[in-house]
Amino acid sequence: MLPHQLLNYSPQDPQAIEATIPSSAYIHIPFCRRRCYYCDFPVFVVGDRKTGSNSGTIQQYVEVLCQEIEITPAGGHPLATIFFGGGTPSLLSVQQLVQVIEVLRRRFGIASDAEISIEIDPGTFDLQQLQGYRDAGVNRISMGVQAFQDDLLQVCGRSHTVSDIWESVALIRQVEVPNFSLDLISGLPHQTLQQWEESLETAVKIAPTHLSIYDLIVESVTAFGRQYQPGTKPLPTDETAAAMYRTAQQILTAAGYEHYEVSNYAKPGYQCRHNRVYWENRPYYAFGMGAASYIQGCRFTRPRKTREYYEWVQHLIDAEGILECSAIPDEEVLLETLMLGLRLSEGICLSGLKKKFGEAVVERIWKCLQPYYQQGWVEIVGGDTKYLEGYLKLTDPEGFLFSNTVLATLFSQFQED
Ligand code: SF4
Repeated sequence: MLPHQLLNYSPQDPQAIEATIPSSAYIHIPFCRRRCYYCDFPVFVVGDRKTGSNSGTIQQYVEVLCQEIEITPAGGHPLATIFFGGGTPSLLSVQQLVQVIEVLRRRFGIASDAEISIEIDPGTFDLQQLQGYRDAGVNRISMGVQAFQDDLLQVCGRSHTVSDIWESVALIRQVEVPNFSLDLISGLPHQTLQQWEESLETAVKIAPTHLSIYDLIVESVTAFGRQYQPGTKPLPTDETAAAMYRTAQQILTAAGYEHYEVSNYAKPGYQCRHNRVYWENRPYYAFGMGAASYIQGCRFTRPRKTREYYEWVQHLIDAEGILECSAIPDEEVLLETLMLGLRLSEGICLSGLKKKFGEAVVERIWKCLQPYYQQGWVEIVGGDTKYLEGYLKLTDPEGFLFSNTVLATLFSQFQED
């Protein structure tokens, strides 16, 4: 067991030290106006308030969250990225957001060019609130739109309508936040390919700098999981779901978006720096209910229920911020590196992989991927397949589309050991 703090590095290995010090922080805000039927996130429903004053529940949570941040040992790097995710972080008042940012600043420092993102939902904010967020340093906004058809929004149990989306877009435009992202979901119950194209084209007309495109995953613990069977009506068939993925790739790349990650598209220069930290398997702090941090080779997930999370923070305070957790074994680090890195369009640097895990491991990976190389789902670019140099990547869209199949093969190969 290693203490989850940043004190006991070997001074002989400065590069290793550097690689394990986080300069990113994820902040979980677990409140939503209602629970969407497909969602299994750790969230807490706080009612149907629009904006402004919010309940004591949220303020109490913010206080505990700030205590967790205050007690966490700092690693020495100012934060280069901060991400307020949820839940619906736009249920935070400006004062609450500022309170959290100021605690982060005091504890870790915030780089002058830091990316500060917040997830927002249509209909949960007004102009003054967005201006307040921007003035507090937020420079990236990500809005969960999901679909541009009221019937589909209703099917999903979303708390907003299409007209809320348009009103929210108008407010975002007025505030001129530099990086603005929209989320859409494909594969919804009753969704047709034509509706999906319509949503994509509408999103392109809005012209955000970034788009996240998710394929619906039916989790068994959700309302959808109790109601629907994946691949059967009214959910789209696997073929239609695949056609939706390919359609997104065609429409968005034709509109000038780079498909830089399995589910993410950005105009040049607007990739999400925070999310790249996850995909590159770099360390990050995480704070709040259900949030998972990755520090000093340890992943740690906080309790997913409010009361348990509050008790856990109290224990952390009693332990002066020292959290016991086990470092991930090397084989798991390898699988995580592959699983995350192959999500990126540039793929994984093979010489980096050799340096970290050895040449024999890279040869084994390549051997295992042969059927997919023949099929055109994986390739090596900027090097060659004989010496295994350059970048190992999935092709777009076919390799991305079948990434689960490719990864399942790698996992079964390396988990047998
Ligand atoms: S708004 Fe987002 S986090 Fe909240 S319930 Fe819906 S999907 Fe889940």
